[in-house]
Amino acid sequence: MTTVGFAGLGIMGRAMALNLISAGFDTIVWNRTAAKTVDLAARGAAVATSASELASRCDVVMMCVSDTSDVEEVVFGEQGVAAGLRPDCLIIDHSTISPEATKRFAATVTEAGAHWLDAPVSGGAEGAARGTLSIMVGGDAGQLERAMPYLTAVGSTITHIGPTGSGQLAKAVNQILVVLNQLAVSEALLLADAGGLDLDTTLRAVESGAAGSWMLSNRGPQMIKRDWRPGFTIDLQQKDLRLVLDAADSLGVPIPGTSLVFQLYRALQERGLGSEGNHALVKALEAMAGIKLGADE
Ligand code: NAP
Repeated sequence: MTTVGFAGLGIMGRAMALNLISAGFDTIVWNRTAAKTVDLAARGAAVATSASELASRCDVVMMCVSDTSDVEEVVFGEQGVAAGLRPDCLIIDHSTISPEATKRFAATVTEAGAHWLDAPVSGGAEGAARGTLSIMVGGDAGQLERAMPYLTAVGSTITHIGPTGSGQLAKAVNQILVVLNQLAVSEALLLADAGGLDLDTTLRAVESGAAGSWMLSNRGPQMIKRDWRPGFTIDLQQKDLRLVLDAADSLGVPIPGTSLVFQLYRALQERGLGSEGNHALVKALEAMAGIKLGADE
């Protein structure tokens, strides 16, 4: 049986690795902070002590870490995946990172006789836990076919976008939709609240019509309760928006709405709120209006 490795057991990676174990795959995990491997080991995963050891024991290595430089470190750093790479190994990168850097990483790995798919995900912590992520894949179609058993264990919509890097560009598209939706949910709930409407009732009324969205249904209730625990942190959201702004800049596409949201999140980061969930965007509007959504904190 193929052995699958998973590197990066954060909010997303931990849930994805658990779904691989539940699907019955022989799974080995590695995380920089070793303590996060303990409960996965209790659920049946083997644990590697370095990314290179993980790669040396696996035919397929999946990973989900934070940023472009982190993927570079995990793959090409000392004791990184590349140092232990088996011939014909397939690396599947679920992190959201730069499309251009992805092309460089994939070329280096291919020269070493292995393969790379960029496979960023959407669907939030909830989608990762349920195994219903939407996965945007760039790379060779044959390698995607090889990856399908693992991808269907962690996601329910798997789309081949095109060549290497195109999965990451599709994720940039996804993030424009996510943040502008988040801004719309923030404005809408503030208006409802200021007008004295019951927020839960109003949310239920509008979510099943043309205004419905993942953000409204999943993060709206959290915003009403002023529960700012992250499914996705503001700091990581900003990392994504930098990638989006870079891509739009190099392609000459104006994205004024996304630029605005980037500045609003920037103000929240300056207030020390970068580790809160991205739905705390509403706090930037609250500060402008001197009002507060829902119940007191
Ligand atoms: P997270 O909870 O902060 O986890 C980040 C993971 O990356 C941790 O396991 C961390 O290890 C590891 N890591 C970071 N830098 C590293 C480095 N230099 N070397 C080794 N390991 C490193 O983040 P997350 O929310 O799971 O997000 C992970 C990726 O998925 C990001 O690219 C994010 O944009 C993307 N994503 C997230 C969501 C979401 O809703 N959360 C949705 C879609 C996509 P330690 O435990 O040692 O810190």
